[in-house]
Amino acid sequence: MQRTIFEPSHELFRESFRTFVEKEMKPHFEAWEQAGLTDRSLFLRAGEAGFLGTDVPEQYGGGGVKDFRYNQIISEEIQYAGVAGGGAGITLHNDICLPYYLNLATPEQLDRWLPGIVSGELITAIAMTEPGIGSDLAGMQTTAIRDGDRYIVNGSKTFITNGINSDIVIVAAKTDPTQKHKGMSLLIVERGMKGFERGRNLEKVGLHSQDTAELFFNDVEVPVENLLGEEGKGFVHLVTNLPQERLSIAVAGVGAAQAALNWTVEYAKERKAFGQPIGSFQNSRFKLAEMRTEVEVATQYIDQCVVALNEGRLSADDAAMAKWWTTELQKRTVDTCVQLHGGYGYMLEYPIARAYVDARITTIYGGTTEIMKEIVGRSMGF
Ligand SMILES: Cc1cc2nc3c(=O)[nH]c(=O)nc-3n(C[C@H](O)[C@H](O)[C@H](O)COP(=O)(O)OP(=O)(O)OC[C@H]3O[C@@H](n4cnc5c(N)ncnc54)[C@H](O)[C@@H]3O)c2cc1C
Repeated sequence: MQRTIFEPSHELFRESFRTFVEKEMKPHFEAWEQAGLTDRSLFLRAGEAGFLGTDVPEQYGGGGVKDFRYNQIISEEIQYAGVAGGGAGITLHNDICLPYYLNLATPEQLDRWLPGIVSGELITAIAMTEPGIGSDLAGMQTTAIRDGDRYIVNGSKTFITNGINSDIVIVAAKTDPTQKHKGMSLLIVERGMKGFERGRNLEKVGLHSQDTAELFFNDVEVPVENLLGEEGKGFVHLVTNLPQERLSIAVAGVGAAQAALNWTVEYAKERKAFGQPIGSFQNSRFKLAEMRTEVEVATQYIDQCVVALNEGRLSADDAAMAKWWTTELQKRTVDTCVQLHGGYGYMLEYPIARAYVDARITTIYGGTTEIMKEIVGRSMGF
């Protein structure tokens, strides 16, 4: 079914980002996958080309257009090109971290950080998860205790995307450890602050070119000027921003499913068995038809979620439904597509194999499928 949400300006943007991916990402992608890290120069090149902070006001160097369709296009093109691991840092930067600055920062903080975020000189990350907690964020142990004009931060975080490359990290910590939700605040911890250390670049099942790391805080002195939003409102700030994070993951999920389907249709036309293209077996044809149906239905829902986000009416349960449905769809689609590729589907030189290992995390990060269903269930009064 034809998608109706895009205008000619979006199509031009899509073409230009597609060219960027071809020139600046694809030739380096294999090296990044081997290194376990995307070169940080990618952020500078993306910044230069106008692909960071399309929604940041022009006075800070941004695109000045608040329209998540541009973010959606970036994410889709990354998936279609099969460079998910190389692009994840950029979508996290644009879709997930940047809104915290745009929504919560003081004018001084905007002056300080936005130009670097838009140029790619300052790479962002957000650190909520700890070794002992993930889903149950209110139980976090990291503390930030006020001492005059600074906070003293102690604790550790894990599984942090852009963990190695990041220059400024939004850290969720307890400013009042006697409280659960109400004791949490958000602080910007900067590269080079004394006592802020990075652990290993974690070895993952997939998304190899995406750096995911542990972060350690030992008596890190963070000036009060680095408090983002209000003290004690950290949990509210997280809950407010999570629907956009979940929609971002959903957009990537449906994009990845579409990409897997595209590669498999091509393959099923070329590959022959028993003297006929494998796509012409009834089982293959039915599988392809089922996948196309599911992906197209999901795409229409996600497009409407993007429109709802733009209009400020995307609810937490809309985003939760989008996230769990599309990422589960991604998982089963890539699995079926591997099957249709036969043995070649297990070879990393085929994009479908990489899509398979990359897909496994998406039903977990940004809130697991189970937590998404909790949110949806609670919104129904249970
Ligand atoms: C590659 C990668 C990148 C990540 N990037 C970031 C990042 O940038 N920043 C960040 O802060 N975090 C990040 N994370 C962490 C991620 O968000 C968490 O792993 C995720 O939220 C799940 O938390 P957990 O791992 O502690 O699992 P747990 O919370 O321990 O959950 C384990 C299992 O129990 C289930 N469960 C838990 N509670 C309930 C419940 N109430 N009802 C039913 N089932 C439940 C879960 O669904 C899951 O199946 C990343 C993780 C990975 C692997």
